[in-house]
Amino acid sequence: MKVKVNKDACIGCGACASICPDVFELNDEGLSEVKVEEENKEKEEFVSVKEELQDEVRDAADSCPTGAIEINEGEEEEEKAA
Ligand code: SF4
Repeated sequence: MKVKVNKDACIGCGACASICPDVFELNDEGLSEVKVEEENKEKEEFVSVKEELQDEVRDAADSCPTGAIEINEGEEEEEKAA
């Protein structure tokens, strides 16, 4: 599973960061972004989510009032191939 935040839709309510602080954080502009490793800084791209965090990410997406959190299921083969 991969996730990204559509910053044009985010209103900075903080719900996602409360539900899943391991994945979402509010940036300096008060908008949510997905925490990424240094080597993966293109924040407009989908970011892989660890298995143990996927339920929280789904909860966060369900709780987002603007639908700004986009989830892409079924991208696991990339990780397995690595
Ligand atoms: S829940 Fe949605 S609107 Fe609220 S901070 Fe997260 S992405 Fe933005």
